[in-house]
Amino acid sequence: MSSPVPQIQKVGVVGAGQMGNGIAHVFALHGYDVVMSDLEQPKLDAAMETIRGNLGRQIRKEMITEAESEATLARILCVTDLDAFGDAGLVVEAAAEREDLKKSIFSNLLPIVPEKAILTSNTSSISITRLASSTDRPEKFMGLHFMNPVPVMRLVELIRGIATDEETYATMKNVVKSLGKEAASAEDFPAFIVNRVLVPMINEAVYTLYEGVGTVKSIDKAMKLGANHPMGPLELADFIGLDTCLAIMNVLHDGLADTKYRPCPLLVKYVEAGWLGRKAGRGFYDYRGDQPVPTR
Ligand code: NAD
Repeated sequence: MSSPVPQIQKVGVVGAGQMGNGIAHVFALHGYDVVMSDLEQPKLDAAMETIRGNLGRQIRKEMITEAESEATLARILCVTDLDAFGDAGLVVEAAAEREDLKKSIFSNLLPIVPEKAILTSNTSSISITRLASSTDRPEKFMGLHFMNPVPVMRLVELIRGIATDEETYATMKNVVKSLGKEAASAEDFPAFIVNRVLVPMINEAVYTLYEGVGTVKSIDKAMKLGANHPMGPLELADFIGLDTCLAIMNVLHDGLADTKYRPCPLLVKYVEAGWLGRKAGRGFYDYRGDQPVPTR
């Protein structure tokens, strides 16, 4: 296990959802002290349960030892306010994909975190430059975009805002390395690289469903067997979260002003229904039984 980057012993993670708990997991596993915040204790309890389960899987696969798992859990502190972020060297914001929410989180954090702390957002699509400019340190602000599931996926996209300085970028490259992951650098344009390519493909799959070109099953089967994708696009949409997919399409549509990025009305309808995918128990598949069942 590699050791933490020296100037960042403690990492504050905001949001304990799908991404936040994975981010807390990998930092703590690689020796960082982690403080993870969410709005309510039950969300934090659920996040710790997920981390415990995922560490258990890593033990079974002989990737880590029982002792490493114990040490990882002991390094994570769960909080419902931000006071414990007072000595964080790095903040990773992983709350829901809403710009107003993210900006208000950073404005609440600024009086608490040390002046030299690096601020990052795990946003999938929101402008890093715009988020950075709402803080007092745009030069120490970056996009740190983990992939889902965080403990498994090797890539982290690093996105510099227009004002991000070289020192911050170099430090964050080292941080990614210290987590045993690989960095790919992306310029700060809507949705960066992975989601700029991936989410319009998912949106197109929803259009093929909407237009009756295929069923949920046939679309997913076609892309798995026909394009060698490990997951079908609708299965993947449920895995990412349909609200997140829709938010990314809206950012592409607004940010690039090209009609090819218009979100499929069926995707909008699923989000309006609260059928957000796996995390809600239902999306393009219903996950409440033993086997996922297509909902159309
Ligand atoms: P999620 O809905 O699972 O989790 C978001 C969490 O943030 C929730 O637990 C919520 O209670 C919490 N939260 C909301 N307001 C908060 C606040 N003020 N303080 C603390 N916590 C707060 O969402 P997610 O899938 O984990 O996505 C989080 C971020 O990561 C988004 O910006 C998303 O775009 C990005 N992202 C998601 C994926 C993915 O595949 N899901 C991949 C990469 C990046």
